[in-house]
Amino acid sequence: MLSFLASAANGAAANPWVAIAYLVAGVLFILALRGLSSPSSSRAGNRFGMLGMLIAVITTLVTHDIANIAEIGIAIFLGGIVGFTIARRIAMTAMPELVAAFHSLVGMAAVLVGLAAWLNPGAFGITDAAGQIFLASRIELGLGIAIGAITFSGSVIAFLKLSGRMSGAPILLPMRHVINLGALLAIIGLVGAYAISGAGGAGEGMLVVWITLLAFAIGFLLIIPIGGADMPVVVSMLNSYSGWAAAAMGFTLGNTAMIITGALVGSSGAILSYIMCRAMNRSFISVIAGGFGAEDGAQSGGGGEQRPYKQGSADDAAFMLEQAEKVIVIPGYGMAVAQAQHALREMCDLLEEKGVEVKFAIHPVAGRMPGHMNVLLAEAAVPYDKVFELEDINSEFAQCDVAFIIGANDVVNPAAKTDKSSPIYGMPVFDVDKAKQVFFIKRSMGGVGYAGVDNDVFYMDQTMMLLSDAKKMVEEIVKGLD
Ligand code: NDP
Repeated sequence: MLSFLASAANGAAANPWVAIAYLVAGVLFILALRGLSSPSSSRAGNRFGMLGMLIAVITTLVTHDIANIAEIGIAIFLGGIVGFTIARRIAMTAMPELVAAFHSLVGMAAVLVGLAAWLNPGAFGITDAAGQIFLASRIELGLGIAIGAITFSGSVIAFLKLSGRMSGAPILLPMRHVINLGALLAIIGLVGAYAISGAGGAGEGMLVVWITLLAFAIGFLLIIPIGGADMPVVVSMLNSYSGWAAAAMGFTLGNTAMIITGALVGSSGAILSYIMCRAMNRSFISVIAGGFGAEDGAQSGGGGEQRPYKQGSADDAAFMLEQAEKVIVIPGYGMAVAQAQHALREMCDLLEEKGVEVKFAIHPVAGRMPGHMNVLLAEAAVPYDKVFELEDINSEFAQCDVAFIIGANDVVNPAAKTDKSSPIYGMPVFDVDKAKQVFFIKRSMGGVGYAGVDNDVFYMDQTMMLLSDAKKMVEEIVKGLD
């Protein structure tokens, strides 16, 4: 392993063909990001990304003097089998937790590369004639280990929260801002002390150990206070951190392709986090500082309250949908769980044949990953021009006959507008209360959304609860429309 890392560290920049191959890979990654910015070009974007990665990997393998190609072959084979199996088996709904788990591996890889370089700097070509690690390499190494460790432990907590193995509710430690800030400053101080210390030996070893341990702790502390509604921002932020960790690894290994790729992932993740913060009405700084905006008194709960509500059947819904002029469909996480998108498309086609105007409204954090609903609707071949973002369609609820909520919950919860103690307070939500009729598909009155709060929409006069699995209910509505 060390010999591979060392040979990579010796760099192949001297060979102009290598530089050109890495440049081509970098351009393909940029084209991939561009392609992924729209559903219609996303397949092409994925292909550019795969081609770029293939060029980068092959270039690294053929141009570096890799001592033990058999070991690398075995690692690629085993990793490939694991990746292939996971990709084939994973349910679409479990994708975000898988992404968080993968980010944690990138973070751990950065920590291990940093520690390997620290333990055997000569093999990485980062020492001067006297055998001392260069100042710049010390800074890269310290930062690489720190960012990697924060990414690792933060991603593990995100994985636990997203997979439901740990409560999604914020865990607010007393004095957490002081602790977080103190730990961050301590890490920066320790990296600085390590960079200027040339002593080597046990003292320097303790500095590296402390940087690693504190960074692991801060990743944990930064993510535990993040509550339901802010989780999407955290996932894209960890994506960004994993990119910077990879870039730091690229510096240590002297690999240009890794620096380019890491920087692209890091900066695009940061831009996505910023865009999501704006869409969620959250301050970017408050989220990255670890739930700075979270109110200590924020409450979650509900779902068990006994309040009167109206329940309807698929036939009732089919009858009223046929009478409507305009229907706005709001899909959410439950549609993904039920895989109801194809049946939904069929229902909407039938309604359009009957002269009803149908539009789809997508909230920036609907589902469990950015773009989750767009992907599912695209899979069901819903035309892109019928799909609208929150700010483009929210004013239309006042003129619509039916707001058809299918498996969404938090994104239509008016508590986000009215209840300061709610964990989703401040997040923009669809104004479904302005629609003449609201149909709400979910399985039971007890179930809550990701943020774990009750929803007043269930109990509005114009709401009809359609309690069933989303796919089953829509299939029955389709039968009623035939
Ligand atoms: P929610 O998680 O708020 O609600 C899901 C709803 O679907 C529940 O009412 C649930 O009720 C219902 N449901 C679940 N399974 C089924 C089924 N098989 N058939 C019918 N209904 C079903 O979803 P939203 O999309 O509205 O909100 C997303 C939430 O997730 C936000 O809080 C967001 O912050 C958070 N989040 C988003 C991420 C992202 O990147 N998009 C990432 C992480 C978190 P019941 O159990 O009764 O059926």
